[in-house]
Amino acid sequence: MKTTGSTELYAVLGNPVRHSMSPVLQNAWIQAHGFKALYVALPVEPDNFEVALQGLAASDVCGLNITTPFKERAAAAALRQSDRVKLVGAANCLTLDRAGRGYDANNTDGDGLVADLDARASDWRERAGQIVVLGAGGAARSILAALSAHSQKPIHVINRDQDRAQQIANQLNPEQIQVGTWQELPQHLADASLVINATSQGLNNQSPFSPDFSPTQPDAVIYDTIYSPRMTAYLESAKASKRRYFDGLGMLAGQGALAFQHWFGALPDIRAGLKTLEEAFAG
Ligand code: NDP
Repeated sequence: MKTTGSTELYAVLGNPVRHSMSPVLQNAWIQAHGFKALYVALPVEPDNFEVALQGLAASDVCGLNITTPFKERAAAAALRQSDRVKLVGAANCLTLDRAGRGYDANNTDGDGLVADLDARASDWRERAGQIVVLGAGGAARSILAALSAHSQKPIHVINRDQDRAQQIANQLNPEQIQVGTWQELPQHLADASLVINATSQGLNNQSPFSPDFSPTQPDAVIYDTIYSPRMTAYLESAKASKRRYFDGLGMLAGQGALAFQHWFGALPDIRAGLKTLEEAFAG
């Protein structure tokens, strides 16, 4: 597509951000839909984040993805917060409000994971058995909110910081969401049908961990939100127990697709997005 004076600009902001796969993903969808737009990665120094947001809004940058470490500050700086952002306290998707000269905040991380599950393991909703979510940070809170909105199943959330986990359980549905400790993980895995690692353990091979998944249901889905590396020790353990397993590349495609929908009003093809990401990863 030719870039002209009327090309709309979109970007991902983070620090670091040069490694981001979002430009490859979003530009492929923009091209497939024939929109006159361009998506780039913009690094921002931590001291300058709010100033950068004001400048981007002033220059008509139409939509932004926000990544580490700015998701909480993006939520706080927004003109308006979606209900999900109010719950989670973090935003990964900002949409320009031209009249207000600022951004409206959304959080598509959790719904992106659910969209990926629906695309690649669509039976997850029907399976009996509980859901186990590991972590209670920004990604985990968004995932818990999405799971609670999409499913009545019991959910166990395991986190080092119990207060953090209890807080989101109380906000969402304390009858559905029970908080547990890491020591209790083996008992929670018994009979689980969906287990999601939403901690940063295993990211870039730091603090890898490998639970024994053999007590889970034979057709359980073991999900890692991490995609760097794609095969973590956690997923190796799922493979060893012959369980279905997925890395976080599908969640990246899902959250990106929902952001695209906020900006352009059309839901792009998530499977095509995942294929684009897989090809980009394979290099
Ligand atoms: P946060 O820093 O907000 O949360 C980190 C979480 O990991 C907390 O629950 C923390 O527990 C837990 N944790 C960190 N280190 C340890 C450890 N050594 N032992 C036990 N628990 C630990 O990060 P995010 O929520 O933003 O990100 C979490 C993960 O999700 C990352 O790996 C990130 O890559 C992934 N992610 C993937 C996305 C995708 O599109 N695939 C999108 C967004 C995130 P505590 O609260 O006790 O400190």
